[in-house]
Amino acid sequence: MTSPEPINGEHHIAHHLIRSARIVGEDGEESDAATVYCPLQERSTAVAECESCRRFHALHFDATARTTSVVCHAGPATPVEEGADPMRGVGGPLDPETPLVDIMTKGVICVRPDVTIDAIAALLVGHEISGVPVVDAESRPVGMVSRADVLRATQERGDTEESRRVTLQPDEIAPLDIGQGFHVYEPIKTTARDIMTPVVLQLHESASVRQAASLMAYEGVHRLAVTSDDGKLVGILSSLDVLRWFGRSCGFLIPPPARKRS
Ligand code: SF4
Repeated sequence: MTSPEPINGEHHIAHHLIRSARIVGEDGEESDAATVYCPLQERSTAVAECESCRRFHALHFDATARTTSVVCHAGPATPVEEGADPMRGVGGPLDPETPLVDIMTKGVICVRPDVTIDAIAALLVGHEISGVPVVDAESRPVGMVSRADVLRATQERGDTEESRRVTLQPDEIAPLDIGQGFHVYEPIKTTARDIMTPVVLQLHESASVRQAASLMAYEGVHRLAVTSDDGKLVGILSSLDVLRWFGRSCGFLIPPPARKRS
């Protein structure tokens, strides 16, 4: 990849990691929202917006780390580019003020509240993850579903799903050809809304690892939602992300999460 042409004589370039939130809807339909944190605007922005920005140079895929970033003119040098701490995140000294945007899990799988527990169980197994955030229509986190929540709900449900008696109105067509004296029962689907923890602990992406670790330890949770200025989910911070950051900051070579993990 060639270096971008300088803008106003500035030659600083920066790589901004792309974060993606894959949202699974009730009907199994999936949509992706790809964003980066733009230090110039000090907010998250859609990758599509970057592509029309005059500072944009290219998208860069790192095959080793399996990450994609936006390469652009950084403009006024950021603290990292000024050389304040060039080793930050790659074996530099522990900096408890490291922002979450640098260490959070950036590829997140989310579900809408109406997704069934069977679909969630398939996601947890298929992607080898221990939980999924639940987001509303604006991609704002409204709950969390953990593997334990799914197991508990499945155990309580037993082999058969709960059902409810349906009274057909005279002008409705029966789904089955039922005889006189019989009733129609339809299964009640347990959804994310029924089993999620409806309180989401969240921090802004510019919050520090110091704040996040304190909050997780105080609340006894392993997962925090990371949100942008408009409250949209842009990442998840797990206790494992904090440990990875700690290990790397101590100089150890910690591989990125396996491809399937979110
Ligand atoms: S391309 Fe433009 S909008 Fe995107 S991160 Fe760079 S400066 Fe910000």
